[in-house]
Amino acid sequence: MSARPGITIIGSGFAGLGMAIKLKEAGYHDFVILEKADDLGGTWRENTYPGCACDIPSPLYSFSYELNPGWSRMFSRQAEIQDYMRACVEKYGLAPHLRFGEEVVGLEYDDAARDWRVLLAGGETFATNAVVSGIGALHVPSLPAIPGRESFAGPSFHSARWDHSVDLTGKRVAVIGTGASAVQFVPRIAGQVSRLHVFQRTPPWIHSKPDFPFSPRAKRILGLPGAARALRNAIYWALEARALGFTVDPRLMGAQRKAALRHLADQVPDPVLRARLTPDYMIGCKRVLISNDYYPALARDNVEVITDGVREIRENSIVDSTGRETEVDVLVYGTGFKVTDALNEWRIVGRNGRKIQDAWQDGVEAYHGTTVAGFPNLFFLLGPNTGLGHNSVVFMIESQVRYVLGCLRLLSRTKARALDVRPEAQRAYNDRLQDRLNRRVWNEGGCGSWYLDEHGVNRTLWPGFTFEYWARTRRPRREAYELIP
Ligand code: NAP
Repeated sequence: MSARPGITIIGSGFAGLGMAIKLKEAGYHDFVILEKADDLGGTWRENTYPGCACDIPSPLYSFSYELNPGWSRMFSRQAEIQDYMRACVEKYGLAPHLRFGEEVVGLEYDDAARDWRVLLAGGETFATNAVVSGIGALHVPSLPAIPGRESFAGPSFHSARWDHSVDLTGKRVAVIGTGASAVQFVPRIAGQVSRLHVFQRTPPWIHSKPDFPFSPRAKRILGLPGAARALRNAIYWALEARALGFTVDPRLMGAQRKAALRHLADQVPDPVLRARLTPDYMIGCKRVLISNDYYPALARDNVEVITDGVREIRENSIVDSTGRETEVDVLVYGTGFKVTDALNEWRIVGRNGRKIQDAWQDGVEAYHGTTVAGFPNLFFLLGPNTGLGHNSVVFMIESQVRYVLGCLRLLSRTKARALDVRPEAQRAYNDRLQDRLNRRVWNEGGCGSWYLDEHGVNRTLWPGFTFEYWARTRRPRREAYELIP
């Protein structure tokens, strides 16, 4: 990479591509998109496990300016979403900006030149004026620290690193974890394996999934002017209404709780299994899942739900906390992701040689989830406290992209070289944010989750309605930033 791009985007998922599209549209052509892998797609490239699909309806989980009346179904599967992203790259002419196989390992701010130095895994470095991180939050697989994990002799893999060369037919398979990924792949493999042992630590709350294929007629209708937009808006407001429970009053979650319990009762007639699958914490405390085939899969004769906790993994078996040993051939981890490690593992050095790990020693935070004091012209898409449990993150990405463009325009207007959020603006913003989060279901709902850091502080979720975030990030407040000439 010899060029010296004005703007460097890291990652080619929805965030990176969304940023690139809007940069081009605004007349910025001097940018590159660095992608560590050899293909685009982010989450939708990494996760290929059986049944992988989005649990937000596709008409909404897509760019607002690139509606797709041709979605095959309400909740599209991984390959179709990745195809949509490829089509966006094609349509918006992003291919010349994409650089595959370029892994960023560090960013260093040059105080004298007021530039960022980008360090690549191959040892190469180059200078750039601004950096936009689109690396997302959920892509470093988390493997549980269970004694003996390394000693397992058979094939074992994480859901985000699914080993398609392993044929599960007729095998005894164990799954550890029952989160958003597991509820999608468990039904797909349950009928294929001889025995499936699902190790559940905490039962998720699960709603039915209003999924269906779009008929040719429905697609034709969605192709009519305004139709796809109307459907998108209807879905947006239906999902946004779910935020009432955690933004206004948790008691409003009562209806959701009842619906989930009814779904469980309808699908699991066996009272013993039903009791095991009934959560004992408030709905919404963890991500609420949707599935029509997970409970029926667990009710199969060849499937067993083990709730006694995993004590040890041996060469060919798993031992639960009661000492019972279960022999298995294959072990699948549906144990989620390390949330903050992705950014913390990088070497990011800002103004005056300050490392981001030092800036974040009390916890990961940013201003509007996007800029961090002491790190000028560095923008985090899907940064701290921009995640959602109830609506489409693509909506949040679009809000942030517009905010970043606002910052770049502010730079052009003022002829400044860089902007750095003022520490007091960042402090006040996060104090208000944490104050709101403290009284919410994620902290008070009686569960543990990856939403909270090791101190129990929520560093991942946006606490309110998404339109509120959209309104607050419409344009940057000039007073919140120091403009560096
Ligand atoms: P996850 O929701 O974090 O679930 C991890 C599961 O592993 C939980 O059941 C957890 O139990 C269990 N677990 C973790 N460590 C364990 C241990 N040491 N022993 C036993 N069990 C353990 O992970 P995920 O299912 O991969 O999903 C991660 C996130 O990705 C989701 O929350 C969602 O945001 C996203 N996702 C989205 C979609 C989508 O369609 N949009 C699909 C898949 C994933 P505990 O609950 O007890 O911690």
